[in-house]
Amino acid sequence: MMRVDYILVGYGIAGAALAAELRARHRQVLVLDAPQPDSASRVAAGLMNPVAGKRFALAWRAEELLAAAIPFYRAQEERLRVPILQELPILKLFSSVQEQNSVLARSADQPWRPFVQEATGELPVLPGVEQEFGGLCIRGGGYVLVEELLTRLTALGRQEGWLRHETFDWGRLVADASGGFLYNGHDGQIHARHVISCEGAAAVHNPYFNWLPLTPNQGEVLTVECPEMPAGAVLNKGAYVVPLAGGQLRVGATYRWPPFAAGTTPEARAELVQRLQAITRLPFRVTEQRAGVRPAVRDRKPLLGTHPETPGVHIFNGFGSKGVMMAPRLAQLMADWLENDVEPWPEVNIRRYFSLYPSAPAAADSSVFRS
Ligand SMILES: Cc1cc2nc3c(=O)[nH]c(=O)nc-3n(C[C@H](O)[C@H](O)[C@H](O)COP(=O)(O)OP(=O)(O)OC[C@H]3O[C@@H](n4cnc5c(N)ncnc54)[C@H](O)[C@@H]3O)c2cc1C
Repeated sequence: MMRVDYILVGYGIAGAALAAELRARHRQVLVLDAPQPDSASRVAAGLMNPVAGKRFALAWRAEELLAAAIPFYRAQEERLRVPILQELPILKLFSSVQEQNSVLARSADQPWRPFVQEATGELPVLPGVEQEFGGLCIRGGGYVLVEELLTRLTALGRQEGWLRHETFDWGRLVADASGGFLYNGHDGQIHARHVISCEGAAAVHNPYFNWLPLTPNQGEVLTVECPEMPAGAVLNKGAYVVPLAGGQLRVGATYRWPPFAAGTTPEARAELVQRLQAITRLPFRVTEQRAGVRPAVRDRKPLLGTHPETPGVHIFNGFGSKGVMMAPRLAQLMADWLENDVEPWPEVNIRRYFSLYPSAPAAADSSVFRS
């Protein structure tokens, strides 16, 4: 029988950050991940943007999150010996005089100061880019090649034996007398002290956590060939345009609430093409379109913590549209909770939703709840 401290269920960016943190603390970790080519993490544009959103405001705890994220991705680059993180300016281009006036008027008293350079509306001239209303230059962020990172780490994990391609069936998890759990995996029985759901949007079906207010939404992105587009910055004007290698751009993203489409849609493609045409008149060609489901939460904050009745079952989830920037710091918080009993921040702690927990979850394996 294999004995581990932690089974992690799911290896998107959440599972990857938490596995790295627990392994760095010398814990025995086994990751079980159902390979899913269009998981949210693999589809994501990978942006880390400290000043974003319709309101163009400083992102929640941006400084602290970036201070952990950048060293985390740099450490993965060193370990894997491939480029993963691009630290680039993000140019917020105004779409109208009204938007320009409204953002610049608010700029004097904004806490975004460390990230926003020269709130004058003046920008360097980018050939081929529609920038007649000016914009702002945001520093301190960039983007991560998340799919590349996960593909490489998954290969390493399989080779080193700490990751398996396997769908975890929560109904087969059984509590044992020692306070741990037994699980019959594809390759035999596993004993774990703890089991952690890092399943992204699929956690809506998790019998232990289906009472949490996960409200997944679907998003689509395009990859576009546009060799003449300047490559030195991410652009943001109704859509994000992320410069990739070889004249490719990632353009995103759309938002769609349930019912979800079965895959990519012509509507999302048309919407993103139209938004890119508002950014550039340069010729481009769509080479790929992908759809994924974001694990969003009602209050837009992640979900960290332990099941109210089963102390060895935990969740690390709810990263919505910002998993890339948030996962590394929150993985530290989650490990502090698991290892040292330090409660996660109240904003992300699932205790805030304990009032929603039904006393007898119908779908859960009763053998666990009796222990
Ligand atoms: C179109 C789009 C664009 C985005 N752009 C950005 C961006 O630019 N920047 C950003 O920060 N975020 C972005 N996001 C959001 C980001 O993708 C998410 O915040 C993040 O990927 C969530 O990661 P996760 O690990 O929680 O979930 P996922 O990436 O969904 O990973 C969950 C994993 O768990 C596995 N799994 C689930 N259930 C089981 C089970 N029972 N057994 C085994 N394995 C299981 C799945 O197969 C999957 O591999 C975007 C999302 C979309 C859809």
